[in-house]
Amino acid sequence: MSPEEPQGDYAEMVTRSREETIRLGRCLGELLRPGDVVALIGDLGAGKTTLAKGIASGAGVEDEDEVTSPTFVLVNEYRGRLPVYHADLYRLQEAPELEDLGWEEFIYGEGISLLEWAEKIPGVLPDERLEIRISWIGADERKFVISGKGAKTEFIRQLRKKWKKED
Ligand code: ADP
Ligand code: MG
Repeated sequence: MSPEEPQGDYAEMVTRSREETIRLGRCLGELLRPGDVVALIGDLGAGKTTLAKGIASGAGVEDEDEVTSPTFVLVNEYRGRLPVYHADLYRLQEAPELEDLGWEEFIYGEGISLLEWAEKIPGVLPDERLEIRISWIGADERKFVISGKGAKTEFIRQLRKKWKKED
């Protein structure tokens, strides 16, 4: 995975506040299914954790405050309509540490996996995943480029519809 332009079908969305990003996350979270893996890519302060809050909420996690950056523990687990695993791989030093995290258990499990700094582990991610690249446009403005890898392209179509309907 590299910062190249997304291949295939993708959606570009702009949000103009933290709240709007939470709402975009909710749209995503409502569409996610057991076993889905979401790679969140973007600089510090881009909005990865904020989007993760929205996604968790859309997946049925009730307490938004529970969703915080898992930098020090590496993986948080929340209970929604499915388990939500939220990892921050920024501090990850090497692949063997993934085993310590119980990586396979969550990435190939029945929950939703949200991976901040997923670009740190190219080659380890499942082929089928969503990739969300977040970039800074202005103080309160962010751009989200959301692409589906593998069979995830249908997801993009549904997301576009949902986002538009709620606009
Ligand atoms: P990351 O996890 O990528 O480091 P965070 O989600 O923790 O980023 O932080 C994003 C910061 O940017 C928060 O302080 C948030 O309030 C602020 N912000 C301002 N505008 C937006 C927006 N449109 N979307 C997301 N966050 C925003
Ligand atoms: Mg974060």
